Amino acid sequence: MNDKILVVEDEPDILALVSYHLEQSGFAVVPAEDEEQALSAIEQNPVCLVVLDLMLPGIGGLEVCRLLKQNPRTKDIPVLMLTARAGEIDRIVGLELGADDYLVKPFSPRELVLRIRAILRRVQGSDDAEDAQIVAGPLAIDPVGCQVQLDSDPIELTATEFKLLTTLAQRRGRVQSREELLKVVWGYEYVGYSRTVDTHIRRLREKLGTAAEMVETVRGMGYRFRREGR
Ligand code: CA
Repeated sequence: MNDKILVVEDEPDILALVSYHLEQSGFAVVPAEDEEQALSAIEQNPVCLVVLDLMLPGIGGLEVCRLLKQNPRTKDIPVLMLTARAGEIDRIVGLELGADDYLVKPFSPRELVLRIRAILRRVQGSDDAEDAQIVAGPLAIDPVGCQVQLDSDPIELTATEFKLLTTLAQRRGRVQSREELLKVVWGYEYVGYSRTVDTHIRRLREKLGTAAEMVETVRGMGYRFRREGR
């Protein structure tokens, strides 16, 4: 598989930081400091993804993104945009231009790598939604590898706790009743065991530590995985 990533960033510190973490994660980095370098680099190197800073000198990141997406040779290469502006407009404009995802500075290099992997899985079509890694605030959940990490440290969960967490997280932002959870996680069809859910939720929260708040109680209704990261 082609594992080269073009990183377009005029700030040397950020370019070095991003490059370091991508290389640590097994990618090869093609660096570029401006649009000229970026466009010539992409002609010479087949890359699997572009990390593109919005605030570039010259024509700027959005214009570079537009050029990449207009060129038949580069239009299918996914673009992850970096922006220092959290505004909704930037986000929409970025996505309208065909950027596949974006991150707001300052971002954690870990999150950047996770997002890149998610994009690559998506474009390579090698998974379905249920297999995709879920990144939520400090938590990273890998449904396939059955692993959960909190700020990059693994958390040990029982199989039931893992399934409970994954079930909640895959329906992020949606309230799920105890009955629904029993059915999906335990395979129970009836309501008599709903306290089982509460007990497991309590243990799960203990293990999630500082991320416990990601699992919210919705009074009289059930549980919900928090929509936004902390
Ligand atoms: Ca910049």
